Amino acid sequence: MAEAAVRLTVQGTVQGVGFRPYVYRLAEQYNLCGTIANTSVGVVIRVQGAAFRIESFLAALPRGCPPLVSISTMKCEVDEKPVPAAGFTILPSVHEETVQALFPPDIALCADCRRELHDPADHRYHYPFINCTNCGPRFTIVHALPYDRCRTSMADFSLCPACADEYKDPLNRRFHAEPVACPTCGPQLSWLNEAGCSCPLVDPLEMAATVLKAGKIIAIKGLGGFHLAVDAMSSPAVSRLRDRKHRPHKPLAVMARDLDAIRHYCRLSPAAEMELAGPTAPIVLLERLPQSTLAPEIAPGIADVGMMLPYTPLHELLFSHDDAPVLLVMTSGNLSDEPICGTIEEAVDRLGGLADGFLVHNREIVMAVDDSVGLCVANQFHLLRRSRGYVPAPLSLPSSLQSVLAVGAELKSTFCLVRGRQAVLSQHLGDLEDPRTESFFRSCYAHFKNLLQFEPRLVACDLHPDYRSTRFAQSLGLPVIQIQHHHAHAVAVMAEHGLDAPVLAVILDGTGYHPDGTIWGGEVLMVTFESYKRLGHLEPVFLPGGDRAAWEPWRMAAALLYGQHGECYEEHGGWLPPGWEKIDPQHRRLITKMMMQEINSPLTSSCGRLFDGVAALTGVRHYVTYEGQAAMELESLARCAGKGIPGVGIDGCYPVSLSARPTGLVVQLEGLLAGLCEDGRKGVSAADIAWEFHDWLVRSLVENITLAAAETGIDNVVFSGGCLQNGLLMEGFSTRCRAVGLTPYFPLQVPANDGGVSLGQAVIAGTRSAANLSCV
Ligand SMILES: [Zn+2]
Ligand SMILES: [Zn+2]
Repeated sequence: MAEAAVRLTVQGTVQGVGFRPYVYRLAEQYNLCGTIANTSVGVVIRVQGAAFRIESFLAALPRGCPPLVSISTMKCEVDEKPVPAAGFTILPSVHEETVQALFPPDIALCADCRRELHDPADHRYHYPFINCTNCGPRFTIVHALPYDRCRTSMADFSLCPACADEYKDPLNRRFHAEPVACPTCGPQLSWLNEAGCSCPLVDPLEMAATVLKAGKIIAIKGLGGFHLAVDAMSSPAVSRLRDRKHRPHKPLAVMARDLDAIRHYCRLSPAAEMELAGPTAPIVLLERLPQSTLAPEIAPGIADVGMMLPYTPLHELLFSHDDAPVLLVMTSGNLSDEPICGTIEEAVDRLGGLADGFLVHNREIVMAVDDSVGLCVANQFHLLRRSRGYVPAPLSLPSSLQSVLAVGAELKSTFCLVRGRQAVLSQHLGDLEDPRTESFFRSCYAHFKNLLQFEPRLVACDLHPDYRSTRFAQSLGLPVIQIQHHHAHAVAVMAEHGLDAPVLAVILDGTGYHPDGTIWGGEVLMVTFESYKRLGHLEPVFLPGGDRAAWEPWRMAAALLYGQHGECYEEHGGWLPPGWEKIDPQHRRLITKMMMQEINSPLTSSCGRLFDGVAALTGVRHYVTYEGQAAMELESLARCAGKGIPGVGIDGCYPVSLSARPTGLVVQLEGLLAGLCEDGRKGVSAADIAWEFHDWLVRSLVENITLAAAETGIDNVVFSGGCLQNGLLMEGFSTRCRAVGLTPYFPLQVPANDGGVSLGQAVIAGTRSAANLSCV
């Protein structure tokens, strides 16, 4: 019988996910000797025994992996110097110079642990920190790699003999489950009153449930930071939370006891159900049922509500308490747009005036992370905020690149580290305009850099000179490559789908800097990994007051009317938008004058601002209190029209008109505005107008790219930008593109909004630099 020995190096998400015990069992099954160890370059397996057995072992290995294991590469070589071994052994972790290995994101409570949590006979009955190899905290507790307990915040808790036995037993579900704990040896809950003083005599969970039932607000220390929680059925309670948080309208997320509770209030598709109940457990945007009795203050003016399920044992226990509400608003524990609070001191300091009590625990959160958010469109899940449950899982790139750091944009900031064929995106960091977010950005980058032993060779940033991320990039003393905003949006989608260049791209966004002096945001591009060419765009209009216009959509309505009728638009149009008279006439005159004299009124092709303008024209909203509010309300209104998918019919209400200009094929606004004003005059409902606008936009842009496709011979089209968070638009583009023989691609794992820009930046910079090197 021929004997053999091989050495396997396995990379991917293979640490902290039950991979070693799985391999141990497999080796025993095939009667092989050898060792397995976690190292910084991946898991190293050495096996020896009968050659045919080794072959069967190698064939079986990738097939039966535990659910959370994801193998990216498996290198197999002959082991020249096999160490004599008897049986199979799991060796202690080895710390090496270069870190290639990755550890998994935080994982929602698994079914086995949930069962034990509710089993009175179990050692961990009602223990709020129960976990195993298949679930529990990971990213949020890791200080350094390799991923072992001593390098996590669980190092503070020594294992009791019972937990230690499970931890050491390769056949146990908790074998090397690094955060393993029980009531005897693990973290504990406590309750703090509104002043932040500890109340040792109360049962923390009972207190939390009672206080919530009374309609009060509590701060809960969870997995990645603090939530503010309040009864989602109580209007006064939700209003009080909004008042205290200074957040008048921005939608709040809701955690529901179980899927049945969600089904009661929202339309739930099988795809959405799978995401909600899966290991990543994100917030999923779901359409509210008409008879829903959820407090309307949760998402005023918006058809959807963000729902999630309890994803930690602590949440599960809170909801199983008799007094606890069935649905809780669970919003990030912060004031308006600051980063989420991670420590008790921070929470008591910053949330002191907001919360009526604190449900806390003594397991340190090493890395704060918000909940992830996404939506299902035509049975596909699209992430809008990539955080808990997804970060730091790497994305695979189509080709290998040198080490690049990309620092993203300004709002919805993320950064991206690329090394070889892997891209690791940071969690959602927030808006860098806030100094706290900027410092959070810096500390997260330092953490990732240290964790992954990452040394960038170059850094990629936006072309915008005033972004804080751009200034950070320029402060690092490395070669800097500046990337146009919408080029980065497009390449992020190409990288995610592994598309070959060139592709056509439709980027519908808020605003993005371009050196031509106009502000882009409604572009049709031809894109490669290195460069882009503008083939078409939306007709530019004035952006009166620059960035201020994004907060005052009526300014965009004025700009649209001005573009059609000139300075006397209030008289010449013969019709003015509903509620126009409520806007201060002096402000209206001032804005008109600014456009006439072109003072602080650059031209923009932004689709986000077009949405704002149309929203104001239909009377939806003249002022917003959060980014994208008018566009989201306009989409909700359009869905109320009940007219199905936009862009599907042959003819629409508002005529499409394209004109060839030196800058490309331009979508003219004339037909839209004439039709819209006429409908307004006739008293057509705002919902119908909103839907017709979506329909017009889909038909106009697909007409535009159909011509571009004919000219270039390219039929792959990527769609991205902040406006592509709109499910109705996605469905419209997808359906109409396929009808004309184009293949559309939408962002899935990487947000369509600016949260995805860093990935595109990194890939473009890495590709450009590789091209330059090969020229030398
Ligand atoms: Zn578990
Ligand atoms: Zn224990």
